Amino acid sequence: MSAQDSFKRFLAQTSDAPLGLEIERAEGSFLFTVDGRRIIDFISGIAVSSLGHGHPAVVEAIRRQVDRHLHVMVYGEFVLAPQVELAAMLAELLPEKLQVTYFTNSGTEAVEGALKLAKKFTGRSRLVAFERSYHGDTHGSLSVTGRRVYREPFEPLLPGVTFLPFDDVDSLGAIDDSVAAVIAEPIQGEGGIRVPSDVWMRALRDRTVETGALLIFDEIQTGMGRTGTLFAFEQSGVAPDVLCLAKAFGGGMPLGAFVSSPEIMAVLKHDPPLSHVTTFGGHPVSCAAGAAALNTIVRDRLFERASVIEERIRGRLRHPLIQEIRGRGAMLGMVLANAAITEIVVANALEKGVLVGWTLHSDRLVRLAPPLNIEFGVLDEAVDVLLQTLDTAQP
Ligand code: PMP
Repeated sequence: MSAQDSFKRFLAQTSDAPLGLEIERAEGSFLFTVDGRRIIDFISGIAVSSLGHGHPAVVEAIRRQVDRHLHVMVYGEFVLAPQVELAAMLAELLPEKLQVTYFTNSGTEAVEGALKLAKKFTGRSRLVAFERSYHGDTHGSLSVTGRRVYREPFEPLLPGVTFLPFDDVDSLGAIDDSVAAVIAEPIQGEGGIRVPSDVWMRALRDRTVETGALLIFDEIQTGMGRTGTLFAFEQSGVAPDVLCLAKAFGGGMPLGAFVSSPEIMAVLKHDPPLSHVTTFGGHPVSCAAGAAALNTIVRDRLFERASVIEERIRGRLRHPLIQEIRGRGAMLGMVLANAAITEIVVANALEKGVLVGWTLHSDRLVRLAPPLNIEFGVLDEAVDVLLQTLDTAQP
């Protein structure tokens, strides 16, 4: 049986139309398939491989840690150098309030932890989230994900969740002192790369301060330099009470985190103790990879390169079929007229060796999320391919 057939038969499928590329190896901005194709990865494994595939610093850190030890104990008991190094680095880079890190395995677990933290700290249970948000697919994260069609088959979910329109100052009055947390992406990813106004971000911060609700920013997709600053919230001048990280945070290894203040994080220690634990969260190999990735992003100022990428794409990617290019840095969305054209462009680009994709909640937007260190020649090649596919795309 071919690997393709075995894939379809033995791996649980998430849709009827998987991309199905059979990967031989990946290096830098390229994927290489078993049938000898070279594909430019213009989505970075969905905003994960921000340093490209197999960055030497990350691979070397993984090797070194593998030689020292793998898993030795559940999270929170032993002093593990890679965890300590990465958490201390984050504290140094983040605002004064965000000093304590809890490591998880994934993005959705970071969100789960953040929601539990907010409920325990405030003693409240209501949650506010935004329409078209995406926060993950476990029950808690799904409860605050703003698309009914994804929630309904799994109800009942968490009670007491209110969804407000994104980037709408007037509706923020619905946040009151029964709310434990408000969770938002500083730029919505799966919702279609939607950038809210700074006015809304500030109003959101003000309203949560007024009501005592914790403000959680989900920077799982926007974080680690992708939008032009290390964290997207820096651009609005508004810092959250809790920050969720994952995706690029692990440098290609599974790793997430929620970060908060010593005072807020302290509630996880008692009443009862061990009420939020994880076996593998903060795996030493993942943390070693994450520390190497973060060091590289900061040392090479790759967040600044994200802005240069944005400028270059916006400058070159011009076509009558493009209605708008949304987003910031290397987190961009090319808005086309309808779903049919979008499908053709995505399929034809892949045929010509450039991997782009959709976002979960939008069917007429092509996601562009190249590695932050992509060579400009490769970037230009990818843009040229997109222009060619647009030229030939007929709905
Ligand atoms: N939040 C956001 C903003 C995301 O983009 C994602 C993943 N697409 C998640 C949470 C969930 O992360 P994970 O898939 O690691 O659980």
